[in-house]
Amino acid sequence: MNKIDALIIGAGPTGLFTAHQLRLIGLNCEIVDNLDKIGGQCIELYPDKPIYDIPAVPECTGEELTNNLLNQLKPFNIKFHLSERVDEVKKDKDNWIVKTSNGKSFLTPNVIIAGGVGSFEPRKFPVKDCEKFENKSVLYSIKDKSIFEGKTVTIFGGGDSALDWAVELSKNSKVNLVHRRDEFRAAQATVDQVHKLSKAGKINLLTKYQMTGINGKEKLENIEIKHDNKETKNVKTDYVLGFFGLIMQLGPIADWGLNINKKTIEVDTEKFETNQKGIYAVGDICTYPGKLKLILSGFHEGALAARACFKLARPNEKYRFEFTTSSKAIKDRLGVKGD
Ligand SMILES: Cc1cc2nc3c(=O)[nH]c(=O)nc-3n(C[C@H](O)[C@H](O)[C@H](O)COP(=O)(O)OP(=O)(O)OC[C@H]3O[C@@H](n4cnc5c(N)ncnc54)[C@H](O)[C@@H]3O)c2cc1C
Repeated sequence: MNKIDALIIGAGPTGLFTAHQLRLIGLNCEIVDNLDKIGGQCIELYPDKPIYDIPAVPECTGEELTNNLLNQLKPFNIKFHLSERVDEVKKDKDNWIVKTSNGKSFLTPNVIIAGGVGSFEPRKFPVKDCEKFENKSVLYSIKDKSIFEGKTVTIFGGGDSALDWAVELSKNSKVNLVHRRDEFRAAQATVDQVHKLSKAGKINLLTKYQMTGINGKEKLENIEIKHDNKETKNVKTDYVLGFFGLIMQLGPIADWGLNINKKTIEVDTEKFETNQKGIYAVGDICTYPGKLKLILSGFHEGALAARACFKLARPNEKYRFEFTTSSKAIKDRLGVKGD
């Protein structure tokens, strides 16, 4: 099992800066995130939007902030475990055993939850039988587009992801694009392209339809879709892709014996520790009197939680406060040469 000084749950801005703070004081750490990319809300919800209240950064987009945080982390070679949800946190003497959805385990005295508003999960089809085919022929994200070559793919959704993939997959697959409305929410250029491909017979456009059934024994055979006017259709397909956006769920965090208050975790304001020794919560997911859900608050909380981790990770050493401007040890860790 992987033994580390601290495990961070969440690769949003708070998790990233907390990793920096841990590494500065000489502790190692790894980061797990359920998303397939780094950046949390900044990347998932507003990559192009400008933020105006990061100290000393007059303006930067969500994506630029994430890239800057990653640049700051570069000297430390942090290990990220993406597309993995932390499902279980269990006490083992002086350590915690942390398990992910992909079966990875970590042994650590410190778990820092920087989980934001919970893990981002895809909104799924309401048709119950879809579960039977999930991750085989019913998918909510694409990891390897080559599996669709020469197959029939039925894409559901009216936003950018659905339309972008419909255009892309129409090059090598037979594509049905199903949406419950006539209008799409995607970029106008992509909407125009979809209509063009539909006219050319490359995309079979089915609007005002929703899925009502899915059939097949071992293998998916066909789906049933129903029009607003109640007419139903049976569509033969090899794959079904659902792009209905993401929902945020506190998920398994709710089962770890922590004091939860309105979907946030109660902490003290000295160490940002929860009611469980060695488990901290920082960023949007924590609550205390006066909590502000701002990125700058997460940075402060992460800095203090990192110092608290030192005591449990290095019980025989004393933590010494040092400025980055003058500490030789910190400069060595950063790989900075000279004074
Ligand atoms: C549209 C919009 C505009 C905003 N503008 C501003 C602004 O101008 N200034 C400002 O300061 N703030 C702004 N915010 C708020 C800011 O984005 C949040 O305060 C910040 O993202 C919180 O960071 P975080 O790292 O705590 O959590 P998040 O960014 O939410 O990241 C948490 C991460 O944890 C992961 N996670 C959760 N549970 C698990 C689990 N069990 N296993 C694995 N991974 C898990 C999630 O997948 C996610 O990636 C804005 C928010 C929105 C939505």
